[in-house]
Amino acid sequence: MHPHLPSNSEEMVNTQISIRDINAPRVIQVMKMIPRDSFVLEKHRALAFSDQALPIGENQTISQPYVVAFMTQALDLKSSSKVLELGTGSGYQTAILASIAKSVYTIEVIRTLIDRAQIVLSALNFSNIHFKCSDGRLGWQEQAPFDRIIVTAASEDIPPPLLNQLADNGKMIIPIGRQHWSQDLVLISKQGKRILKEKLLPVRFVPLIRVTPQKHKKC
Ligand code: SAH
Repeated sequence: MHPHLPSNSEEMVNTQISIRDINAPRVIQVMKMIPRDSFVLEKHRALAFSDQALPIGENQTISQPYVVAFMTQALDLKSSSKVLELGTGSGYQTAILASIAKSVYTIEVIRTLIDRAQIVLSALNFSNIHFKCSDGRLGWQEQAPFDRIIVTAASEDIPPPLLNQLADNGKMIIPIGRQHWSQDLVLISKQGKRILKEKLLPVRFVPLIRVTPQKHKKC
């Protein structure tokens, strides 16, 4: 039906990831291993390995594979890393993180999405992922500090709780920008009292949903 589209994760990596600026062996290996088709809606299965974001319902999207690989590589995960992720969505990025790091604490604000992601990830036998349905901008204080933090929805600024919950020598990657159609992926490194920021890539993410206590009904 789609003769030019890759039909598995290995082909996807060979045609879209390795040929770009992704060369971390562990990132390449894990991207080849995790089946992206398990995380997309049935009606988008034919496009599961294509070079694009796809709708996952609730006006949200599964990120483009290249962006997932880019963010993962920039985070420089260790097998000992404790990771906080904001915006579980389909759970695809979560699976990539959890395949490399020691544990992943993932927060999603839309209940139907986190429920679905949890089912897919347990079917893939992950046991090092912890889920929470709430406003991710507050972080996960009880589990802090985190060695790595990844935000997969656009924010106008760095939510202060996240910076506080980042370990010393920790790294955070977050799309920052005021516009809905473009942001910068920013890498933040914490070294004692010093906070270093580096713009890495222009991106387009759906915005972080700002939840007020009264409106907080989706969880
Ligand atoms: N990385 C995921 C999803 C990206 S879409 C994937 O590739 O599948 C961004 C996700 O962030 C959506 O699922 C959205 O519901 C979630 N989100 C938006 N605002 C949030 C908030 N305040 N706290 C936690 N999650 C949020």
